[in-house]
Amino acid sequence: MMAVKVVESPSKYVQGPNAIKELGKYTKELGEKALVVVDRKVMSLLERRIREAADGVEFLFEFFNGECSKEEIERLKKIGIENGCSVIVGIGGGKTLDTAKAVAYFMSAPVLTVPTTASSNAPVNALSVIYTPDGKFEEYLYLPKNPDVVLVDSRIIAEAPVRFLVAGMGDALAAKFEAEAAYRGTAENIAGGFSTVTTLSLSQVCFETLLENGYEAKLAVEANAVTPAVEKVIEANILLSGKTGGLAAAHSIHNGLTELEETQGLYHGEKVAFSVIAQMVMEDRALEEIQEVIAFCDSLGLPVTLEQLGLKDAERDKLMVVAEAACAEKETIYNMPFPVNPEMVLDSMLGADALGREFLFS
Ligand SMILES: [Zn+2]
Repeated sequence: MMAVKVVESPSKYVQGPNAIKELGKYTKELGEKALVVVDRKVMSLLERRIREAADGVEFLFEFFNGECSKEEIERLKKIGIENGCSVIVGIGGGKTLDTAKAVAYFMSAPVLTVPTTASSNAPVNALSVIYTPDGKFEEYLYLPKNPDVVLVDSRIIAEAPVRFLVAGMGDALAAKFEAEAAYRGTAENIAGGFSTVTTLSLSQVCFETLLENGYEAKLAVEANAVTPAVEKVIEANILLSGKTGGLAAAHSIHNGLTELEETQGLYHGEKVAFSVIAQMVMEDRALEEIQEVIAFCDSLGLPVTLEQLGLKDAERDKLMVVAEAACAEKETIYNMPFPVNPEMVLDSMLGADALGREFLFS
């Protein structure tokens, strides 16, 4: 294995209130006729704003069918080719954007993403998570490049339910801890190389931004307000948390948690938040450092105990299912700088739960 380091990023990142007005301008730089893949519900809320932003570009609208599956990607690709579209625009949540990125890849066309929530970094990364048509995880589709333009309208994001922003903070919280683990470890990141000082530093800034602004941003978005704290948290959730710093135990424990039906009502970032605390326990981080993260999560309403994950009084056997799935072959848990096994994962989850309960009830 060559010891190269790789960092990747979108070509252009644009963020601000009413940034959607620039949609036509940025699309025009990429192509004349755009296939716009959009959530039906998003279209009903934003249709006027989207149409007014066309700026001479021809938009062909096509509703996203709800799942980023191979079938859906193929369907949209066919529509794009038959209608001579030269650029793909995705507007909506993570699955819509993942689909738009995959369609663009298979059409060798440029892509512009417009996230309507700040719940993950799907808008910027070079990855599409592929599901079966009935919603089961199928595989990761690694893309050769990140989106050409990411257009983030902070006004639209502040109009979405606050739970999305909070979940996005839970996901972004992982960036620092996973990047640090992967930096010390010897595994490659999703960009196909080792982590750089650049991504390590950005993940630290991401963490500090969340801690300083997270609670204030949550309150502001509850009032549908765009404040400087909201802008900073949106940037942290979508751009700074860019996972090229590498994934490690937290995302594997998250993947393990998806095995249990009880956790299915929770968003990705909500499960990641608890998993970060478990990773910190596994790493034997200082108690005050772990307690700081627990207090932060609790202030936002992110889960800090197994009960809050829907796993009250779960037996060891049941949690072992999570731990074993977290340690499946190819999982990013092996990016940790020390050997890991399911028993360690299980004990770390129980240790995290104990600290969370102590925080809540003492
Ligand atoms: Zn994530």
